[in-house]
Amino acid sequence: MISSIIFIILALAGFTFFTLNMLKIRSNILLGQKLDRTDNKAERWKTMILVAFGQKKMFKRWFPAVMHLFIYTAFIITQIELIEIFTDGITGGHRLFRGSLGGFYTFIISLIEILSVLAFIATIVFLSRRNLIRLPRLNMREMAGWPRKDANLILIMELTLICCIFMMNGADEVLFNRDMSHAATTFTGDNTFGFAVSQFIGPAFFGNMSNETLMIIERIGWWGHIMMVFVFLNYLPYSKHLHILLAFPNVYYSNLEPMGKFANNQAVKKEVQLMMDPDADPYAAPAPDENATPQRFGAKDVEDLSWKNLMDAYSCTECGRCTDNCPANQTGKLLSPRAIMMATRDRLDEKGNNIRKHGKDYDDGKSLHSYISEEELWACTTCNACVETCPVDISPMNIIMQMRQYLVMEESKIPNELAGMNTNIENNGAPWQFSPEDRIKWAEEE
Ligand code: SF4
Ligand code: SF4
Repeated sequence: MISSIIFIILALAGFTFFTLNMLKIRSNILLGQKLDRTDNKAERWKTMILVAFGQKKMFKRWFPAVMHLFIYTAFIITQIELIEIFTDGITGGHRLFRGSLGGFYTFIISLIEILSVLAFIATIVFLSRRNLIRLPRLNMREMAGWPRKDANLILIMELTLICCIFMMNGADEVLFNRDMSHAATTFTGDNTFGFAVSQFIGPAFFGNMSNETLMIIERIGWWGHIMMVFVFLNYLPYSKHLHILLAFPNVYYSNLEPMGKFANNQAVKKEVQLMMDPDADPYAAPAPDENATPQRFGAKDVEDLSWKNLMDAYSCTECGRCTDNCPANQTGKLLSPRAIMMATRDRLDEKGNNIRKHGKDYDDGKSLHSYISEEELWACTTCNACVETCPVDISPMNIIMQMRQYLVMEESKIPNELAGMNTNIENNGAPWQFSPEDRIKWAEEE
């Protein structure tokens, strides 16, 4: 009875904090500009099933993909056991599903155990790649400090979760063999649980222990497992691992247009059309509204980006595939598309906290440009390699382009080389410094 009350209080507290934190993330994302991504639902579902659920893009590199698949599948299937843990926690029962599911219960728990072993191996591999082999992609400058600790912390939590599962099942297996387990017994199958892994590691690790010790170990495993689940849940909103929730909506709302297609700035397009149309009457346009907020060209800060850009920032797994494939980064430039996404998320968190604390008009004197330098922005070749490779369909390039647009159109900041090229296009109709009349002269040369 007391354990049920403690469990219910912990569960309520865990879910309440998690919900409050997720509402903060939602309100941060909604700071972004409107963008309609409700079209073509069938195509969106297909993309989500293939890319987010099927991990399609991950398999361009088979080894990390298979390792990730172990952890991902174990995570999904373990949710079944979690339902039982919740039922047991609330009712004070023990392995309540066993009574009704019988042999199928043994099959499911065995499957979870096998996947947990594979996930354990994968987690060790991931820890080694980060900390022993020190894979360059996972140890770039933007990964120093907290991002590195965050990645390690979550891997350690996963190991702890798996160890708790085996403590719980292993000790219970031995207890059951001694007819001392409290598991539901309406199932009259074999005289053991017969779980695929713990039927071996249970007797091997715990076989010599007394019943009292085993009961304590089983309870430590059970409570340890559920406590880690609550800690994990409440840690997610502060971690890059939020992608395990956001990857699905993020891929669903991804851009279905051809990747190279740039959106026109409608205000500029209208002006240019007016300029180029000989029949246009410039006075036919309605008088400008003096009270209207002037339109911002490009992105100065996070609220100038679309809500999808902001959701991208929270969905980034910090895997670094984009940076690894970025030609600018490969040739030693400062630009790292992953760092662009991390900076956007950091600034968004800061902006959201400021608004909640000081109101929406508060100005802290910073902007997204305080986090991302002009050098990074102008290093982008707009090749889309980052977008193509991202396993959760994020577009760092889209943010870069909007920030560049702000620099050019609002701040008149443009590198000299580009300024010269723009002048040439304006005067000569081509990026070169030659008059259009001279263009054909090459044909006259001997
Ligand atoms: S679009 Fe820009 S940021 Fe992305 S890979 Fe190409 S150069 Fe790098
Ligand atoms: S933007 Fe995509 S590819 Fe780049 S680090 Fe984030 S999840 Fe990985």
